[in-house]
Amino acid sequence: MTAEIIDGKAAAARLRTQIAEEVAALARQHVKPGLAVVLVGEDPASQIYVRSKGKQTKEVGMNSFAHHLPSTVSQIELLALIRTLNLDTAVDGILVQLPLPAHIDADLVLRAIDPSKDVDGFHPLNAGLIATGAAGVAPCTPLGCLQLIKSVRQDLSGLHAVVVGRSNIVGKPMGQLLLREDCTATICHRFSRDVPAITRTGDILVVAVGRPELVRRDWIKPGAIVIDVGINRLSKPDGATTLVGDVHFEDARNIAAAVTPVPGGVGPMTIACLLRNTLDAARGRLDRNTSIPQ
Ligand code: NAD
Repeated sequence: MTAEIIDGKAAAARLRTQIAEEVAALARQHVKPGLAVVLVGEDPASQIYVRSKGKQTKEVGMNSFAHHLPSTVSQIELLALIRTLNLDTAVDGILVQLPLPAHIDADLVLRAIDPSKDVDGFHPLNAGLIATGAAGVAPCTPLGCLQLIKSVRQDLSGLHAVVVGRSNIVGKPMGQLLLREDCTATICHRFSRDVPAITRTGDILVVAVGRPELVRRDWIKPGAIVIDVGINRLSKPDGATTLVGDVHFEDARNIAAAVTPVPGGVGPMTIACLLRNTLDAARGRLDRNTSIPQ
């Protein structure tokens, strides 16, 4: 079997086009969604992500507000900025780029974001809403994964979905979103026993571990949909670097029904879903404003 390669770049471009059209329609109601991105320090990878987010935000017609703070910023100063952004009516979404320097309590900072502006979906209130199947903001990476899965198969009801990795930003919410789609969801992690025996029963397999090419052919059920979230940067002997996922791509291509590549799979969808969450937050603001009795 040669698997379909799920083109995340193309799917993300389609989603951005749709978002741009919706942003243009909102402009007719005098609403322009705004995304504030807070970057602390000089981490090169974070700087690239933040630049890319800012560029794509503007491209779909939204306002982008960049706040770059030195790595020496105090927790109190960072919390003060979050409070200002919470109150700023031009800001619909607030994203604090992780990781933060060690002297800052990242959980405390994420909890300080107004849940209605938490477009990353990391606030415990949103995590709880998603876990109870209610309407809440879901984290962007699992949202993107779900859209890619549904581009292959719309109805996921009754399928066994196996997620490898249980982080709060990918693995756990991914499991919740798949449960919401009526899958039987299993989440594996570093203490799970005989992980390949579990993954081999997955009609859907989502891998978010951060271990280069951990998942080999004998981990994959023939005909499965395989979503590779991992981003691992490897050095080549000539000093250049290459990106690989958590799944051995060629192995998956030979046994799965569909597989995402790295790069060009989940990554582009993550930013597109961030824009979707920001647009939804702006719509929520508009609804709240227009539902106030005159
Ligand atoms: P994390 O380090 O927070 O979590 C890793 C998880 O993998 C843990 O739950 C751990 O228990 C589990 N794990 C580790 N080794 C294992 C093993 N041998 N077998 C089973 N489970 C194991 O990582 P994260 O933040 O969830 O990110 C995971 C990967 O996804 C990383 O490579 C990261 O760069 C990538 N990522 C990509 C995107 C994207 O947009 N494409 C977004 C977020 C994360």
